[in-house]
Amino acid sequence: MNIDAFAATPPEWTNTGIHAYEFCCPSCHSSSLEAVQVWINRRSPVMTENYRRKWQEFYQCHCGCVWWAWSSDRPKVKRPSDDDSSETDSPANFDDQ
Ligand SMILES: [Zn+2]
Repeated sequence: MNIDAFAATPPEWTNTGIHAYEFCCPSCHSSSLEAVQVWINRRSPVMTENYRRKWQEFYQCHCGCVWWAWSSDRPKVKRPSDDDSSETDSPANFDDQ
């Protein structure tokens, strides 16, 4: 996974990102886990209705499409060690790669 995911300044490729409402590539419907580049805009989190923070996550798909979605919209990945739904604040599941 790309080491610039948490860079302070947005990489240039995020400029063309389009908002994906279903947390997958709007062009080919690949999941975020298949993206070739990731950048997470953690510098400007937004407060949700539930007083949780969310931020923009940018993904460059292998098909060439760049898209972004709110972190709060990311579907939770069930892990074998997860008993409950308490873990919601991790920015991404990069360690699943
Ligand atoms: Zn795609």
